[in-house]
Amino acid sequence: PASSMEELVSLCKRRGFIFQGSEIYGGLQGFYDYGPLGVELKNNIKAAWWRANVYERDDMEGLDSSIIMHRMVLRHSGHEATFSDPMVDNKKNNKRYRLDHLVKDQKADVIEKVAQGIGEDASNFPAVVAALIKQPAKASEVLKAAGVRDAFSGEVGDWTEPKPFNMMFKTTIGPVADEESYGYLRPETAQGIFTNFKNVVDSTSRRLPFGIAQIGKAFRNEITPRNFIFRVRELEQMEIEFFCVPGTDEDWHAHWLEKRLTWWEAQGVPRSKIEILDVPPEDLAHYSKRTYDLMYDYPTLGFEEIEGIANRSDYDLGSHTKSQAELNLVAKVSENNDSIAKLTIPHPDTNKPVVPFVIEPSAGVDRALLAVLSEAFTKETLENGNERIVLKFKPHLAPIKVAVIPLARNREEITTVAKAIKTELQGLGLGRVLYEDSGNIGKAYRRHDEVGTPYCVTVDFDTIGQNESGDAALKDTVTVRDRDTLAQERVRISELAGWIREKLR
Ligand code: ATP
Repeated sequence: PASSMEELVSLCKRRGFIFQGSEIYGGLQGFYDYGPLGVELKNNIKAAWWRANVYERDDMEGLDSSIIMHRMVLRHSGHEATFSDPMVDNKKNNKRYRLDHLVKDQKADVIEKVAQGIGEDASNFPAVVAALIKQPAKASEVLKAAGVRDAFSGEVGDWTEPKPFNMMFKTTIGPVADEESYGYLRPETAQGIFTNFKNVVDSTSRRLPFGIAQIGKAFRNEITPRNFIFRVRELEQMEIEFFCVPGTDEDWHAHWLEKRLTWWEAQGVPRSKIEILDVPPEDLAHYSKRTYDLMYDYPTLGFEEIEGIANRSDYDLGSHTKSQAELNLVAKVSENNDSIAKLTIPHPDTNKPVVPFVIEPSAGVDRALLAVLSEAFTKETLENGNERIVLKFKPHLAPIKVAVIPLARNREEITTVAKAIKTELQGLGLGRVLYEDSGNIGKAYRRHDEVGTPYCVTVDFDTIGQNESGDAALKDTVTVRDRDTLAQERVRISELAGWIREKLR
């Protein structure tokens, strides 16, 4: 695995995985663009998730809902009121920070002083932050007295009281910008699933239990975006809302925890690198009955959330439904006089309408990609003493499956064969196959190690029966080089497609 974030950032830029957004105008903080290899890797991760969670199950439907949503959706979901992070301003330079990030980044003795000042134990960091939020006036004093420094100037700051900062992006809709013509860019894909619950049930005749899966962009105006693609303002999520009979929710929660860990393992992110955090009640989101956060050991950052698996009870459907009073909701929801739909489904035993409970596995695509990349990253010393960087992706995630390399790019007998092989392998539908004639063979191998191409196929003079040593047995064969073992094997062209398909299975 990678030993630092730096190593990954530099490889990503050098080889075309990830670039800073709007870079030619100085960049835009919290926004990244996925380059030629990044887009392949990302698509492969999403496809693997979709395959496991939609195609390989018999209790799931897919969805792709719109990004901009009616303001009422985000009002009744609770996001208008509560989707915020605590922020403090430094009055000296008008810079703004997310309170917990600011404190976490201080030296240990400063954190200790802050904790003491607010009357909490420094070893319980969430409690320290919670206490600062609860006593804003005192918090401001404590931050000043402890000598909390500004990350930009490095100087001791003059801190305001912490205030909640709502992270939703708001945008105007339509040609007339009156008071009511605004909507929100969704801060999670989940809300599109809840608002389509009835549509999906009515159009598919689903009965409990079943789930709806969605992959798509979400937007959060993070106060301090940072750590490369770990915390961005435009992110992508892979979310499932799994609807079940109230009372069976805890079993389904356990089921999904297990399923998701198995899935991560299959992507090359081993269980041993993921800690399961059973989120303490005081830290739960407004909708949650219980949440497991999967914490992956990121290089440089340490254990940080890669996926949240929440039991959202009947909070969401209960919040978005009409006729709340007659539905015996368990969750505490705010009154809704705007919805025109009753979000119930027949109870499988009694046929009486019931608002189901929801289990939500929610993973970030960007954080997944960072973890996959980090696990695949390998530095090796070869037998000849040279060092190589190789990305040991699981084959189904590799951005390029096979590179087909003509040994001489100006010899038509060779390039014609190489191009025909490329076309044939591309036709297998395994993903991208690259015709690669951009440099010498050694360089091509090094490049394909660094981007994790499982196999390089080389077409040479033996292939076309023109080698001076004249080994006729090698005619119509190619060299296949294995990324991980570096072994080179001669394979007959007529058997190559079957050989590759078998290896990349
Ligand atoms: P954090 O505590 O790190 O801000 P969160 O608890 O707000 O994350 P959730 O609301 O549970 O995150 O979102 C579900 C998933 O979406 C996360 O596990 C993460 O993978 C991803 N995610 C959330 N916010 C971001 C972000 N700003 N950038 C990249 N991915 C994100």
